[in-house]
Amino acid sequence: MKTKKLSTCILASLLFLMFNIFAPVQSRALVPIPDKTVVLTFDDAVKSHITVAAPLLKQYGFGASFYITQIWIGDTENFMDWNEVAALNDMEFEIGNHTWSHQLFNLPSFAAKFQEEFYQIEDAFQKAGIPPSVSFAWPGNYFGPEALAELEYTGTKFARRGPQPEFTGGTHLGPLYDPKVHHPLLIPTSGDAAPDWTLERFKESVDRAKDGKITILMFHGVPDNVHPWVHTPAERFVEYMAYLKSGGFNVIAMRDLEKYVDPQNYPDDPMVNGRYPSLPGTALIAGTAVFKLDVSVNAGALMVTVPGENPGGHVWVYRPSGDCVVCGEPVTGKKTNISLQQSPPGLYIAQVGELTRKFVY
Ligand SMILES: [Zn+2]
Repeated sequence: MKTKKLSTCILASLLFLMFNIFAPVQSRALVPIPDKTVVLTFDDAVKSHITVAAPLLKQYGFGASFYITQIWIGDTENFMDWNEVAALNDMEFEIGNHTWSHQLFNLPSFAAKFQEEFYQIEDAFQKAGIPPSVSFAWPGNYFGPEALAELEYTGTKFARRGPQPEFTGGTHLGPLYDPKVHHPLLIPTSGDAAPDWTLERFKESVDRAKDGKITILMFHGVPDNVHPWVHTPAERFVEYMAYLKSGGFNVIAMRDLEKYVDPQNYPDDPMVNGRYPSLPGTALIAGTAVFKLDVSVNAGALMVTVPGENPGGHVWVYRPSGDCVVCGEPVTGKKTNISLQQSPPGLYIAQVGELTRKFVY
């Protein structure tokens, strides 16, 4: 009897396991993205996050994500200490990972440090009573395919990059986040709050959030005394938040995106092979070594600069689909100009001999 019971139990367990292993993964019911959805993010653990931003956000009932790096913690006059970071968590704001030493991850050699940089911050979160991070912000807006693979490995659900490479400088406006287009670990910044931003520019940034697209805002200090190039005056910040409140915006943290977006089910984003900043004068071979091969694109023309002796004699450029756009054109010297003939935008791979270089056109 006992044996029978036991075997029934084992059978039931096996059936349970089989069902759970082989059952199709049920996708969660996602909520449609409301118009006027804005994600607020704050980088670098600046003191004014706890003294200026957090109380106002709490008053308005806004969600927000604060990305923490250790590198400036210790300058207690200008940056938060760990008790203050823990206090933000207690206020139910999201605390996200921005790496231990604000490492820049566009190079493969830097990606080798990713896990250490990531988990040092996670350990500090644990010591401060903060839960493991759900989202990440790429330090300095730098990213590359090697570090992206490392980030995926950590199980992080969402990550914010900068407005680059689509937009650089100028208005500090970037693409809206479109979950149908962008990889969840390369979510673009739609508005990078700059010191010279006005309420009009802020409105321009957030008023675009509609039709399933989300405005992702990046702030640093409000104010930021140590990094004046990313400073937002407190009085501007107060104006911006009042505009969101009076306009009835849906103001959330990055982790809240999970209500609208399934991070496991993401689109084919060519940016996963992109790199920012790109590597002038370098190219990758087999994802490890760095060699000189400069590929730049300007006004529809591809400029290929090869190192030393011409290594292959001909250049090929491929689209992600594998189509050859430039097919074996001779490289006549160290520098060659080749027309891309109004090729569609996307990720391209240039190859000269054994040297390859991926670039976004
Ligand atoms: Zn930063």
